Amino acid sequence: MTVTRFAPSPTGYLHLGHACAALTAWTRARDAGGRFLLRIENIDATRCRPEYEASILDDMTWLGLDWDGPVRRQQDHLPDYQVVLDKLRGQGLLYPCFCTRADIAREVAVSTQAPHGPDGPVYPGTCAGLSLAEAEDRVAAGQAHAWRLRTGAAHARFGKLDYQEEGLGRVICRPEAFGDVVLARKDCPGSYHLCVCHDDAVQGVTLVTRGEELRLATDIHRLIQALMDWPVPDYAHHALLTDAQGAKLSKRDGALSLRALRAEGIGPAEAFRRAGIEAAFSRPA
Ligand code: GLU
Repeated sequence: MTVTRFAPSPTGYLHLGHACAALTAWTRARDAGGRFLLRIENIDATRCRPEYEASILDDMTWLGLDWDGPVRRQQDHLPDYQVVLDKLRGQGLLYPCFCTRADIAREVAVSTQAPHGPDGPVYPGTCAGLSLAEAEDRVAAGQAHAWRLRTGAAHARFGKLDYQEEGLGRVICRPEAFGDVVLARKDCPGSYHLCVCHDDAVQGVTLVTRGEELRLATDIHRLIQALMDWPVPDYAHHALLTDAQGAKLSKRDGALSLRALRAEGIGPAEAFRRAGIEAAFSRPA
């Protein structure tokens, strides 16, 4: 059975790009007689707000995009992410990282070769070489730390890793481009990468539809799936909506939020038309 999901982070109001992404996932599930899930990715307590979450549910209802089963909220599942983290630590592939953003920026600035990855400068590896004893002492002393994956060593445990991308076929993964990614934030036993893979696995998602900007992250996700022996969904990354100037729509771009359109008296059909997907909109009942 086809299971898709829409997984917004409540860090702002939904805009036309989200409407497009949600409709894509909804349509794929409904056309296949499958299930469409709604997941609130709210592990970032500093940026997520309850009012944005409430407005996501409200906007989805207004758009006529109904979801199956209860809404999953990542904050309600922190102990599950802790279990995953412990399993990965047990594989000897994680290390605690005590660096602040400023430490990393400083290190990158003085480094003669600081490779850029899909998420910005690759972590320079400052904490990768700490001795086990020192790392354990600092953790025991309560120093704030994230957990990073030794990406190269993890990938080396497997042969070629790939996944199925709709329209492209098998895509070979090169997770090393990200460097040692964070799998658990300082304030949470997970990171986006860990939580999204866990949730897609436990929720039985078979087809991940999401924006093109996350395509490369799939290489990391495929590696996490291999490490955890989780099933591998198919992927369909879609182009992002842009504004008239060709710039990516952002949550900060309030004028294009669904709320703002509603306040102008615009209906969901017109919102979808503006998102360039008029043809798809006869579907919601
Ligand atoms: N929560 C992510 C976002 O809002 C999307 C996650 C995903 O679709 O994999 O950008």
